[in-house]
Amino acid sequence: MGLTGIQIYKLLPQTNCKECGEPTCLAFAMKLAAGKADISLCPYVSEDAKAKLSEATAPPIREFTIGTGTNAVKVGGETVMFRHEKTFFNPTPVAVMIKDTESDDVVASKLERIKSICFERVGKKLCVDMVALKNESGDKAKFMTLLEKASAIDKPMIIMTDNLETLKESAEKYKDKRPILYAATSANADEVAKIASATGLPVVAKGNGLDEVSSVTAKLASAGIKDIAIDSSAKNIKDAVKDNVFARRASIKQKIKEVGYPTFVVVNEITQDPMLEAVIAAGLISQYAGIVVISDPDPAKILPITVSRMNVFTDPQRPMVVEQGIYPINNPDENSPVIITVNFALTYFIVSAEIEASRVPCWLMIMDTEGLSVLTAWSAGKFVADAMAAYVKKTDITQKVKHRKIIIPGYVAQLSGEFQEELGEGWEVQIGPREAADLPKFLKMWKL
Ligand code: SF4
Repeated sequence: MGLTGIQIYKLLPQTNCKECGEPTCLAFAMKLAAGKADISLCPYVSEDAKAKLSEATAPPIREFTIGTGTNAVKVGGETVMFRHEKTFFNPTPVAVMIKDTESDDVVASKLERIKSICFERVGKKLCVDMVALKNESGDKAKFMTLLEKASAIDKPMIIMTDNLETLKESAEKYKDKRPILYAATSANADEVAKIASATGLPVVAKGNGLDEVSSVTAKLASAGIKDIAIDSSAKNIKDAVKDNVFARRASIKQKIKEVGYPTFVVVNEITQDPMLEAVIAAGLISQYAGIVVISDPDPAKILPITVSRMNVFTDPQRPMVVEQGIYPINNPDENSPVIITVNFALTYFIVSAEIEASRVPCWLMIMDTEGLSVLTAWSAGKFVADAMAAYVKKTDITQKVKHRKIIIPGYVAQLSGEFQEELGEGWEVQIGPREAADLPKFLKMWKL
């Protein structure tokens, strides 16, 4: 970051050929400056300019991936202090720690839960993202056994050991799964850098406070290691928040490269109280934590932490939407009621959950209102009679049901007459309840 749109424009070919999808090179430069385009979209930019621009447009907090395949997580990549300035990009992964001193039963039960816990909220899956494996015993064989068991659940791994030989062996054995190595310290940074460099793996730089962390990241960076997370070893909430905020501010506002990495917080070293652990983890996620580690995969912790994370990492400029279409719920047939509503994700999930709970088979028609809720879409002219009728007519709902009745939300009851007129002869528009919670009662009484 750091170059203005005009500075970037000077590095572009300035031919306005439009191949990048923008009408002019200046428009493309402005998008690059705002972080909304990628330099690779311009096929004519010189290699020299590309190198300068890649450097200049890279996020101030290093972005990298841990793990492989569909469970891989991306960390870092943030470009702003506050979510309302733009958005936050990569949701903080939640890792659960397993120590090699824990019994086989505890390990098996933790792994099973880490693998299976997954909640769904407004269409997003909320799961445990990573597994942090700690060589608490100091015994290499024990730790390797734990790694082997954990590797089977296919979640990105954090390899935590103080023993360089164990770190080297495990990094080599599991490098194809792209774990992150924990940790490089001022005492071992050179050796850990060699392991990270040979295996291509990311690494956590650890120190007592950000000053020491900075000296470790500087050593790693000079050895060519780019994918780094930072752990300031905070032992209380105040220090953890302070270090997270300082690192974010220093990297974004002052462009201090040594702390321009996602932070790594071991929450179970801050508290042993299980519920306080969840509160602290959720709090730190809202205060810039890049990765959080907690002690166990208790659903009573995972749900609040991940829901609170979701609130931080949604794009404030883009409402959450579901796709326009006809959704069958509870196996509807040609005699089932038809309900129409907007495509605001929260509306869809609340309405569909109530229909499901009613056990009444229904066709739920979701209309694209650009993610606006019922009343907002109505007042913005997007959920109004003519648009709704046009949408209904273009679908194949008349082939799915033999009746011509359609239920609208009670909040837009005033539309019913006009909507019926727009739909044409034979249609009957019925007014549903205002609140989704009243839908089950309404549907149970509905008659063809
Ligand atoms: S593709 Fe490159 S040269 Fe063409 S308009 Fe875009 S920025 Fe300019």
